[in-house]
Amino acid sequence: TEDIIRVEGLSTRFFTEQGQVNAVDDLDFRIERGEVFGIVGESGSGKSVTARSLMDLIESPGRITDGQIWFNDAELAESVAEDNEEAVDGDFVDLLSITEQQRTALRGTSFSMIFQDPESSFNPSLTVGEQLAEAVEVQQRASANPRSTKAKTQTSDYSFGNYLLSTMLPSQRFVTEESRERAIELLELVGIPDPVERADEYPHEYSGGMLQRAMIAQALAGEPDVLVADEPTTALDVTIQAQILDLLDELQAETGMTILLITHNLGVVARMCDRVGVMYAGEIVERGTLEDVFDDHVHPYTKGLLGSIPDLEGAAGRLQPIGGNVPSLLDHEMEDRCHFADRCPKAMDQCLEHPPEYAASGSDDHTVRCVLAERSYDESDAIPAGYF
Ligand code: SF4
Ligand code: MG
Repeated sequence: TEDIIRVEGLSTRFFTEQGQVNAVDDLDFRIERGEVFGIVGESGSGKSVTARSLMDLIESPGRITDGQIWFNDAELAESVAEDNEEAVDGDFVDLLSITEQQRTALRGTSFSMIFQDPESSFNPSLTVGEQLAEAVEVQQRASANPRSTKAKTQTSDYSFGNYLLSTMLPSQRFVTEESRERAIELLELVGIPDPVERADEYPHEYSGGMLQRAMIAQALAGEPDVLVADEPTTALDVTIQAQILDLLDELQAETGMTILLITHNLGVVARMCDRVGVMYAGEIVERGTLEDVFDDHVHPYTKGLLGSIPDLEGAAGRLQPIGGNVPSLLDHEMEDRCHFADRCPKAMDQCLEHPPEYAASGSDDHTVRCVLAERSYDESDAIPAGYF
């Protein structure tokens, strides 16, 4: 399998009155085409900022300050190479080096996103069908003429649906019969019963789970290659959560799209993902296949996360806080050492002297940022059961 995304050295910082916050710090990871890649971590670990960095939804006072986000798209690579060779490497294009117009044109058609809160993706005063039809039309216009796509206006609530609406002039906000039919097809695709009738209903007439499905339909309007799902089921009760995960599974199998799944729930990771990165304090501290991370993990933080879970299924899989303090991400307070050192039962002098490098552990794909991996982990490094 080929990679669809390669993130290299990505840093996203927020410039606040308190100082510079290093929310995402020097991230490296890759996502294979057609897989479900998970990013798991506690809240504040930088996983949503990572997702929004990929979607170009970071706003002031935040900014991506370093790195590349390479996206595998031969056609795009060819067109970008015409006037910006540096942004291209083979079939990969660095999304951080292309123009705002080029980047905007990828929204919805190459990349799409769903959120925890579906209400933010819908305008309460328009029917769900109208809004889906509009999303279909925006995507058609964008793919018909990518260079003319209007520049980004505002995305202040990070809402993809509102973003789509904001790219349209009021005069363009009518829908054709064809788009309406496509909207109904999309509702059907995501398992909404009686889609013809439901298309004429307003968002408030939908239950939470149904609106979540409608948001997924909206995100799929442009047939994206990559769907970024940020805590898509966190607000739902366990039964509905399971149904939405099943739906994402089915849609993934049907369309072959790639999913980047952001979650704090290891049960969701175990159920959905092929590969996973564990985030802590703005860094991916361990990444690999599900087996690497669940069965052969090396990083004490991964161990702590897994140890804090009594039951991997359902709501019980939610992370419990583990002991000790999460380090400050304020640049002037950050120390040049392992971010996990204060909470780590295995911390040693060298962990306090400099931050650990990324090191391969076992398979090339299994990478760990910890001195235990650097000097090849053995049984004596294991953390006693019940420590966390
Ligand atoms: Fe613990 Fe040291 Fe590894 Fe950090 S580098 S997680 S302090 S053993
Ligand atoms: Mg979040």
